[in-house]
Amino acid sequence: MALQEICEIPVEGEPRKRPQFPYKSAPLDFIQLPTPVPDQKEILIRVSACGICHTELDEIEGRLLPPKFPLVPGHEIVGRVESCGPEVTRFHAGDRVGVAWIHSSCGQCEFCRGGNENLCDQFKATGLDANGGYAEYTVVPEDFAYPIPPGFSDAHAAPLLCAGVIGFRALRLSGVKAGDILGLYGFGASAHIAIQVALHWGCKVFVFTREGQKDHQALAKKLGAEWVGATGEAPPRKLRSAIDFTPVGEPVKEALKALQKGGRVVINAIRKINPIPELDYAKHLWHEREIKSVANVARQDALEFLPLAARIGIKPEVQEFPLKDANRALVLLKEGKMHGAGVLRIAP
Ligand SMILES: [Zn+2]
Ligand SMILES: [Zn+2]
Repeated sequence: MALQEICEIPVEGEPRKRPQFPYKSAPLDFIQLPTPVPDQKEILIRVSACGICHTELDEIEGRLLPPKFPLVPGHEIVGRVESCGPEVTRFHAGDRVGVAWIHSSCGQCEFCRGGNENLCDQFKATGLDANGGYAEYTVVPEDFAYPIPPGFSDAHAAPLLCAGVIGFRALRLSGVKAGDILGLYGFGASAHIAIQVALHWGCKVFVFTREGQKDHQALAKKLGAEWVGATGEAPPRKLRSAIDFTPVGEPVKEALKALQKGGRVVINAIRKINPIPELDYAKHLWHEREIKSVANVARQDALEFLPLAARIGIKPEVQEFPLKDANRALVLLKEGKMHGAGVLRIAP
């Protein structure tokens, strides 16, 4: 399934936001593309499942501009190696592998050499700069594919590759250790996986959601949150660190207020749809309080997170669709009606 032009997905009862683009409730078309041929160090993957991410909506609606059309989206890919380029050494035909948002980087710059290829100037994204997983086949450099541990079905492994891996990077950047109090702001796909890792590490977790989000609050309690409240509420104890998973600005300021001295707020969002409110140095930053953003993911995040998720027994909630229903799934996602993480079933 491919995107051929930027468009806006209509939502019943909601006003148009991007009138410069056509309205399309079926933004992706079925098209025939030749099966890609793997380059020297690339693998050809026969895709079995691909997760559906909010980033696809950003690409379709032009908030992230694809460099070319048609574009095959999808960056939470699980499949089996079909064939390998002549210089491939890590994988063999038949291996089960996953691909995440990072498709490739230069390998030479100081960021790449230091293991932070997510910051490389030549960072290329799967399903944006290169064709992704809403397809029968895809190719990726072997260094940017990861073994999928046994224990996960293909469909349950797919959401781990974006929501899971990015949440794991945010957790690492938060610097929390056993016994620390961690605050999570927003409790969607990424946070409901991150809490399971934080509890496994021995952290105490306080969850903040929008006022009245009873379903998210109930899920947080069920998964083991020690305290659940609304963003802006004062928690019973100060936070060592906080991770903000929301697309809005206010939780950053609220999280800074709830931090103990020397604490850190990690912002897990590519962009904010409204600005962070003005900060008061004495109230929000003094005493070595910090703010840090999370940009993309590095390979090490996926290589460490997937086996850890298998050990902990993390099981994301998924709703499956056949590939031909990708458009219907994207509309549900935009309308906020997806239950758990959406996953496209492509081959058995
Ligand atoms: Zn994603
Ligand atoms: Zn680089």
